[in-house]
Amino acid sequence: MLTVKDKKFVSFIDKHQIETRIAQLSREISEDYRHKNPLFIVVLNGAFMFASDLMKNVSIPCEITFVRVSSYSKTTSTGELTEVLGLKEPIQNRHVIIVEDIVDTGLTMNKLLFQLSIHKPDSIQVATLLFKPAALKTPLSVKYVGFEIENRFVVGYGLDYDGYGRNTDSIYVLAD
Ligand code: 5GP
Repeated sequence: MLTVKDKKFVSFIDKHQIETRIAQLSREISEDYRHKNPLFIVVLNGAFMFASDLMKNVSIPCEITFVRVSSYSKTTSTGELTEVLGLKEPIQNRHVIIVEDIVDTGLTMNKLLFQLSIHKPDSIQVATLLFKPAALKTPLSVKYVGFEIENRFVVGYGLDYDGYGRNTDSIYVLAD
């Protein structure tokens, strides 16, 4: 049992399962991107722990950088836009892998993919630790998925509830 602020969470994916699955993903990525010199773009804050463990096992030459995604609403009919903050590396002609903690509705990832594709990378793929297929609201191709999970709220291993709960070595789910 884990208490984060006013909510109680129960154990969901333990550290050994996470470790094993991430090692597999790292091997798969290393294989797929051999001789491609990929650029990993890690989405902060949630993906910091996943990225750290993933990258330790990626055995090919690569670069790693970090971005934040901020949503802001415009008063026009264009609705909510997404701004990618902190990307200094040119991504034109690069093989990009976005590293994310969780894909829920997929709307954030969809916008991020759109923003990055403007700069004409050679390829873009997504590596996410968690994926909630039932929550997806937009067509999205996610190549590397750690775990597909049901549509429930999770914390831990980088993921927060209201800023807290990121600092655990396993993943917890909101208790019923
Ligand atoms: P999406 O745009 O795919 O709906 O959501 C993306 C963001 O919502 C994630 O990067 C994450 O910050 C947050 N999010 C979605 N589901 C969860 C969840 O179950 N737990 C936590 N902690 N954050 C979530």
